Amino acid sequence: MLNKIVIANRGEIALRILRACREIGIKTVAVHSSADRDLKHVRFADESVCIGGPPSSESYLNVPAIISAAEITDAVGIHPGYGFLSENPDFAERVESSGFVFIGPKPETIRLMGDKVSAIKAMKASGVPCVPGSGGPLTQNSEDNLRIALDIGYPIIIKAAAGGGGRGMRVVRSEAALLNAISLTKSEAKAAFGDDTVYMEKFLENPRHIEFQMLADAHGNAIHLGERDCSMQRRHQKVLEEAPAPGISDQIRNDMGERCAEACRKIGYRGVGTFEFLYENGEFYFIEMNTRLQVEHPVTEMVTGVDLVIEQLRVASGETLSYKQSDIKLNGHAIECRINAEDSKTFMPSPGEITHYHQPGGPGVRLESHIYSGYRVPPYYDSMIGKLITHANNRESAMARMRTALSELVIGGINTNIALQEEILKDVGFQRGGTNIHYLEKKLEG
Ligand code: ADP
Repeated sequence: MLNKIVIANRGEIALRILRACREIGIKTVAVHSSADRDLKHVRFADESVCIGGPPSSESYLNVPAIISAAEITDAVGIHPGYGFLSENPDFAERVESSGFVFIGPKPETIRLMGDKVSAIKAMKASGVPCVPGSGGPLTQNSEDNLRIALDIGYPIIIKAAAGGGGRGMRVVRSEAALLNAISLTKSEAKAAFGDDTVYMEKFLENPRHIEFQMLADAHGNAIHLGERDCSMQRRHQKVLEEAPAPGISDQIRNDMGERCAEACRKIGYRGVGTFEFLYENGEFYFIEMNTRLQVEHPVTEMVTGVDLVIEQLRVASGETLSYKQSDIKLNGHAIECRINAEDSKTFMPSPGEITHYHQPGGPGVRLESHIYSGYRVPPYYDSMIGKLITHANNRESAMARMRTALSELVIGGINTNIALQEEILKDVGFQRGGTNIHYLEKKLEG
């Protein structure tokens, strides 16, 4: 097992990784910005190194500083968490060429799946269903492009191959708007990602977002841990997630999960990863793979009993998976509410001091958060300050537990989205289950 690792992240996920390390006896090095000295995991870590100023570009994205921290502390591995450098193949390569273990897939796998065009090609070749589309980059040939769009059928969406974070996409509803939309998306993609490659696919009007959690080792074993429904979104940002997805039968889960597992074996995937799909009229359409641990991983952990971070650490140590597919049984239902330091109505970020804090508890309640009374939420980073997760025998009870837990959660001194989460839990459509990705925004408008 890895002896000591650097946790190259902050906030709740850094604490989550630290806890997993402590549980299995891995020593930890917290690297943090000068604004993050008071983070909980920095205090709990065996060692800590300040790697730069508050802006991420000076600290959490500062590759030389992170590598140096690993060198001076004699760490053997680096865990990137999510966000920041977690899906950056150049970083993974730098980590490995500097002699450290990157706790994630191989750099070439991150590169393959980070380019959406090559990812879709690899998925198609493995039998994973994709959105009907151009199947490759669009050329400058207007006639070809008009014909491809006509074949797919309007509306279509133009997407940047290098896109991410919901950027670099444009929906086109009529032929007259196509060519202009292609040039616009190309120049935006060039400016944002330094790569103007774009492709085209069918625009699905009212899909749900359903994703499969995968786990693979470096010895060719890959399994799935079922799916999550992450359709409750605002501006392409997930707000609430659950597992399993309402209405997905065991047969469909096993079929899709096995196809994804086969794709993992084909591309030599290693570690945890997620296949994201749009799901409409009973069909799954692959949109992208996330080659890292995800924010919403706890709902899968609750229903499978598998600790994904510990598995990630074992796989990175070269061990084989501790589970076979037949060991994975889904038990009950889990829901996660993301807790953000932002106004429930205006969504304006709300950094500042947490003057008082009360944490919920009871059976089936899990809180992943780094905050405490007296902690100052810095203005420099993402506004998510924690995740509240409930688990119960069925969806009804998981919702009831969440309502109780939300009512107990008190975060004073700053604004939070707790009231929004309470609204969602009260919503009849959500209670019924299976709402699509536009549901929350429509509700907020209405
Ligand atoms: P990113 O890497 O930027 O997150 P994705 O490919 O995952 O990009 O797409 C982000 C979101 O855009 C999806 O969750 C979905 O809401 C929307 N989207 C992407 N492709 C389509 C499509 N073909 N039809 C409808 N919506 C889409």
